[in-house]
Amino acid sequence: LLLLGIETTCDETAAAVVRRREDGSGSILSNIVLSQFDEHAAYGGVVPEIAARAHVEVLDDVIARALRAAGVTLADLNGIAAAAGPGLIGGVIVGLTTAKALALAARKPLVAVNHLEAHALTARLTDSVPFPYLLLLVSGGHTQLVCVTGVGRYEKLGGTIDDAIGEAFDKTGKMLGLPYPGGPAVERAALGGDPNRFALPRPLLGRPEPNFSLSGLKTAVRLEALRIAPLSDHDVEDLCAGFQAAIVDVVTDRVRYGLRAMRERGHAPSALVLAGGVGANQAVRRALHKVAADGGTRLAVPPPELCTDNGAMIAWAGAERLALGRRDGLEFSPRARWPLAEVDAAQPVPAA
Ligand code: ATP
Ligand code: MG
Ligand code: FE
Repeated sequence: LLLLGIETTCDETAAAVVRRREDGSGSILSNIVLSQFDEHAAYGGVVPEIAARAHVEVLDDVIARALRAAGVTLADLNGIAAAAGPGLIGGVIVGLTTAKALALAARKPLVAVNHLEAHALTARLTDSVPFPYLLLLVSGGHTQLVCVTGVGRYEKLGGTIDDAIGEAFDKTGKMLGLPYPGGPAVERAALGGDPNRFALPRPLLGRPEPNFSLSGLKTAVRLEALRIAPLSDHDVEDLCAGFQAAIVDVVTDRVRYGLRAMRERGHAPSALVLAGGVGANQAVRRALHKVAADGGTRLAVPPPELCTDNGAMIAWAGAERLALGRRDGLEFSPRARWPLAEVDAAQPVPAA
């Protein structure tokens, strides 16, 4: 199956062409991502109205480039997938409406993809990861541990009770005067810092329900920063290193309990899958390799450019659904809110 995927739920305008073979393996023919960093940098965060307008301006060109780079035309495709939510509604409308128009004009099936499901399934595009697996989804808007037993079959085991981890990285970066987006900037600054100079909290460590809490950590960094202000470059590096070390401790502990919760439900995970933008963080990746191995499984993580938002993950999720005979009507409405648990089960419950 050959699919075009369109992603416009946040501040990336992206399109890609992906192939899924019958044996379940995949390949990426093209993957064009245009980030709106410059448009939003002055505000230190994404401005929804600016994002929607930017998607309108560049999406046609991004799609044309994706098709050209893949060496295919609309007629060659088996389907057109677009992220239909969750996300900033203005951007979602732009991407989904464009996909509907292309599907109608080229007479191809439309697949309305849940953006979180796309993050959840991406590891299967670049790696062979059979169901069931434990998913750690850590992005700008989401932090969840999910038991994945099939396409469209997601059970949330735990999640954040306040900020998302990516959001905590972004807010910490902004607070310390680092460039937007904060995640990569904090990781870079942390490289030169001393993680032990500041005593920062590790919320919820050891709690059996695999939930997360990040706002206390973020506040602790702010208080330390205020206490020692004005900050030298060196102070900023130490604060970033301390913050990132706390995140790593929290994530590894919570994943240990997530693996336990999954086994308690009778599922033996084929892998621990890391997904979402924070999955690009090398310190997090390194730590989770060890947690997975200690827990009797392995870490499967897409390359960094497939962890942050992109069109290939949307095309792939579309292909996985289309391979199971699932497609959507042109009346499908864009959704600002769309939890993973409310995604249609594309795959039947395996017989007991
Ligand atoms: P969602 O998928 O929840 O709707 P989103 O689409 O904005 O949110 P992604 O694009 O998947 O999220 O990820 C972006 C987030 O990942 C940002 O918060 C960013 O700071 C964070 N991030 C990106 N690279 C890194 C990194 N190297 N270290 C830590 N965080 C990172
Ligand atoms: Mg993004
Ligand atoms: Fe995302």
